[in-house]
This record gives sequence, C-alpha cells and structure tokens, in this order.
Amino acid sequence: MRVAILRDSLPGETRVALLPDAVKALSSQGIEFAVEAGVGHHLGATDADYQAVGATISDRESLLREADVFPTINILSAEDQAKIKRGAVMAGVLRALDEPSAFLPAVERGATLFAMELVPRITRAQAMDVLSSMATVAGYKAVILAADNLPRMFPLLMTAAGTVPPAKVFVLGAGVAGLQAIATARRLGAVVEAYDVRAAAGEQVRSLGAKFLEIDLGGIETEDKGGYAKELSEEALNRGRDLIAKTAKTADVIITTAQVPGRRAPLLVRRDAVENMKAGSIIVDLAAMGGGNCELTQPGKTIRHGEVTIFAPLNVPATIPVHASQLYSRNMTQFLKLLLAKGQLNLDMNDEIIKGACVAHNGEVVNERVASALGAKA
Ligand code: NAD
Repeated sequence: MRVAILRDSLPGETRVALLPDAVKALSSQGIEFAVEAGVGHHLGATDADYQAVGATISDRESLLREADVFPTINILSAEDQAKIKRGAVMAGVLRALDEPSAFLPAVERGATLFAMELVPRITRAQAMDVLSSMATVAGYKAVILAADNLPRMFPLLMTAAGTVPPAKVFVLGAGVAGLQAIATARRLGAVVEAYDVRAAAGEQVRSLGAKFLEIDLGGIETEDKGGYAKELSEEALNRGRDLIAKTAKTADVIITTAQVPGRRAPLLVRRDAVENMKAGSIIVDLAAMGGGNCELTQPGKTIRHGEVTIFAPLNVPATIPVHASQLYSRNMTQFLKLLLAKGQLNLDMNDEIIKGACVAHNGEVVNERVASALGAKA
C-alpha cells in the first residue's frame, strides 16, 4: 500500500494533509509513504524530515501514476484525477454535497473516495473531525483579523490619559467556530454577545463569559437529532434578523459563523443592520463559502460599505498553515488508521465512520445524499 502526499494545487492553499509525525505513526501499519518534493518546506517540514521517518521523495507525475492512496486537503484537480491509477483511494475535504461533480473524473477511474467532511460526528470519530479542527482555527483567526483592522483596541484600559472602553464583539452562530471566536475575543478583553438558534448553545456561550441573546421563536424545533441547526422559516429568521440589527448598532465587530448543513448559509445581517453600524466597524463573515450570513458579503472579497468593512475570506485555515496542517494531519492519521488497518484497505461498510464518509467505490457513487446532490445539479 503506497500512500502519496502531494502539494495541494488549489490556489492559496498552504496546508499539507500529512506531516512527518503522521508518517511515522502510520508506517508501523505496514504503509509505505512517498512525498512530492518540497511539499512541507514552507511549514518547516523538510524533505529530510519526511525521509527520516521512512518516506521516499518523488515527483508529482510518478506519484499520481503509481500511488494507491491520496490523503489530500482539497480534492485533486480534474487533470490530476484523470492521471491516478485505476481503483486508487482518495480522502480529503471533497465538498461532496456542495460540488459533487468535481470528483467525477476520479469516479470514472474507479476510485474509492472518502469525504472527510462527511465523517459522522460520533464520539469514536472525534479525533477525525476535520470540520471542528478547521472551525477552531477559523474562529480564532476571524477575531485576530477583526482586531487588526479595527480602529480601536479590544481591552478595557484605565490609563493616566483616561479610560479606553472595551470593544464590543457580536458572534452569530455558537458552534465550534463561534465558540472559539468568543473565547479569543474574551482573551483579548472584549465584551462579547452571541446568538444562536440552538438554545443548547446558551450554556456554552455563558461559560466563556459572554452574553447569550435569546429570542422567542414560538417553541419551534431548531435542532435536528444530530445536534445541528435546522433550516428556519422566514418568520423565525426575521425575528433573528431584527434582534441582530438592534445589537449591531452598538457592536464594533460582528463575526458570523452560522451554517445549516447542506443548505445555503442563512442570511442574518441585513443591509440596514450594516448601514446602522458605527463608523470603522468590522464584519468577518466566516460563512462566506456557503454564500455568507451578511446580505452584503461578497465571498472571497473584502469590501467597504460606507464606513463598515466586510471580510469574507474563503479559506481561513490556510492563513495559519502550521497549526491547521498539524490538526488536519492528526485527524487524517486517525482516519487512515481505521481505513488502512494492517496495511490493507478496510472497506467495512458496517463501520459507521467508513460508510458515512465513503462517497464512491468501484466507479459508483455510493452515498445517497451525494447521489441526490449530483442528480439535483445534473
Ligand atoms: P455549523 O458550522 O453547522 O453551524 C454553526 C452554528 O450556526 C451552529 O451552532 C448553528 O446552530 C448556528 N446557526 C444555524 N442557523 C442559524 C441561524 N439562523 N441563526 C443563528 N445561528 C444559526 O455547526 P458546527 O460548529 O459544526 O457544530 C454544530 C453542532 O455540532 C454543535 O451542537 C456542536 O456542539 C456539535 N458538534 C459535535 C461534535 C461531536 O460530537 N464530535 C463535533 C463538533 C460539533
């Protein structure tokens, strides 16, 4: 079983799927590793570091042709997919429900594909949860980005020249990214308020020293069995939007992280809410990849609307590549330990994790949700 670690070809991507310590941990399972020359240089993981743990260094074309398994961050390009060996295995963040047609060239090569974002969030799979790892990095960085661009300081300062009041940060969506944003903003001394449709998030928000804003949604179910937010009616969404618009007037920073799996990100911050914000205020829309939580968001761009700046970065983890790679690599190691048990492909469809993440096998799409997403896009 030959595993290849390639340079990610997505523009702006800086993360690496497996670092040398992962190679070391997995080599004992009888797996051979081959690494594209220079893959980790920018992270301080040199070719020599990979060689020291038993990997060989090779060129991209040979690796694409010869490797059996490709752990990746993003999906390989269509061109690269067309070059892989028949029946090869790929595991990465495939965005399988968002862009299902992107992996069809690999399906045509009879590849077996695993979408890391579809690993079920059960206790046994916590160490493989790349969504949580990357959301942690993004939540932290969103606050740093806002603090760096705000024309004010975050902490309360009492000086001989007078008192500087603390910044007010408003976080929308208190999942993994939102909670990390709250914790980071609190550490910098800001006063933080947060809003989420899941009432269960309230306790976590308060435990971080922030205020949880609650609204009466008329007792509707806001959470599914898996603990995720459900898509809300327009009326329920509007109640949230009104509360957000009111709170936005006094906020210096809004960080939005709200997502509903498999749907467009909910629109929460209306144009009027932005227009009533204070001059110099910042919005960081972490839901930009899903279309954004702010009406004025332009995914991938930073714009000014009046005196408010709206950041809508698409790949925040890539801006902290060392730690983002470290976390991702550890998640991937745990997944590969399960998938390549004893050095053989363990395609045990009775295993909830393997079944949940497997998108295609032997030239066929095997995941129902992905198949219907493909049908819908056809
Ligand atoms: P996510 O990225 O899907 O969404 C982010 C947040 O947006 C969620 O908290 C959601 O409730 C909120 N949201 C959605 N619609 C909204 C709206 N209209 N208004 C306001 N907020 C809205 O979520 P996530 O961070 O991936 O986590 C979701 C849930 O999964 C949480 O309960 C989390 O604790 C749980 N989780 C479990 C595990 C595990 O058990 N292994 C791991 C990670 C997360």
